[in-house]
Amino acid sequence: MTTAALFAGFLQNLGIAALVAIVYDMALRNASDRRIRRFVTAFVLAAGAVGSMMMPFELAPGLIFDLRHSFLILAMSYGGWPAAILSAACAIAFRIWVGGAGMWAGVLGIAISASAGVAFALYFRQARLRMLTFALLGLGASLPMASLFVLPWETALMILETVSVPMTLANIAGTVLVGEILERRRIQYYRENVLSQEASTDALTQLANRRVFDMRGPDLLMNSARKGEPCTVMVVDIDHFKQINDTYGHDTGDKVLRHLSQIVRSNVRKSDLVARYGGEEIALVLPGHDSRGGSGLAERLRRAVENAPFPLDNRNTIPLSVSIGLYANEGWPESFWAAFKRADTALYRAKSSGRNRVEVALA
Ligand code: GH3
Ligand code: MG
Ligand code: MG
Repeated sequence: MTTAALFAGFLQNLGIAALVAIVYDMALRNASDRRIRRFVTAFVLAAGAVGSMMMPFELAPGLIFDLRHSFLILAMSYGGWPAAILSAACAIAFRIWVGGAGMWAGVLGIAISASAGVAFALYFRQARLRMLTFALLGLGASLPMASLFVLPWETALMILETVSVPMTLANIAGTVLVGEILERRRIQYYRENVLSQEASTDALTQLANRRVFDMRGPDLLMNSARKGEPCTVMVVDIDHFKQINDTYGHDTGDKVLRHLSQIVRSNVRKSDLVARYGGEEIALVLPGHDSRGGSGLAERLRRAVENAPFPLDNRNTIPLSVSIGLYANEGWPESFWAAFKRADTALYRAKSSGRNRVEVALA
């Protein structure tokens, strides 16, 4: 009878676990801000613990079982401190509100599994969690049974004798199931993130790649035009880069490209679009910059590159220079690609009139 009741209660609680997993998944997918994601995760794990306490199963008069400890012990691993604290606080508050003879044993039990979850997460930081780990955690979720010893010893022993085995098994099964669902969602989320990061980033320089530039560039220019703001399109090209490759080798050439990318990136705003457009060409879209602002920035960049020769070893450096062409769109744009073509033509002019210089395309 006890085992059958336990099984029924277990199934009910799994419904809650599924709901928790769905909301956790939604938070991962839709909340772009890390803090919001953490808050939602904390909230949903706390709701899982309390929700499961709302659907307890009475094993014997006054003796109830639910999956609260599975949620509590996993909270820290999936939602960090906010989840650990919020779920323990909500579960304790709820247990006190329910009251009854087993109240303090209940509160103590919650504190035990929440602390075990924190200790575990701190120890297994970042590790990929596997089924066996969840099984061990499930065993940990049974530790709170020790809280029964706030009752008279004989009563506690009698209760433990009848329910300890099925309760432990249910805790293990519950923690493995809840944990596996959460872990799969998490791994899937991180995989997708890595893939989309790889698809949009240039592997060598970590700048945006050409695909991203082609997609975002037109949007940025159009948004600026709609707001009546100027927008500068700029192309930066290393001078005589082929010579650098020929003299020092392709590997050094690669390092020079990274060096240059860092200089460019650190001279613009985070919101500006900076992409590796071709081999040794970096293209930028700078919303809000008119012709004066754009050429001022280009001149700063040109000087920054000139003043930061590439350190070859302790004694030698490779002198670097770039040529820059830019076009500032100040009214309604013809098209992004027309603007880009003008910047590229200006770059060509900078090259043919001696390199290491900035040329502004005329509207
Ligand atoms: P200019 O001043 O006219 O721009 O001369 P340049 O030598 O910089 O230009 P050119 O277009 O003749 O040569 C560009 C070179 O860039 C040729 C190519 O081998 C090199 N390159 C392109 N991509 C990479 C890369 O990923 N790594 C390295 N090391 N070199 C690259
Ligand atoms: Mg070049
Ligand atoms: Mg080039």
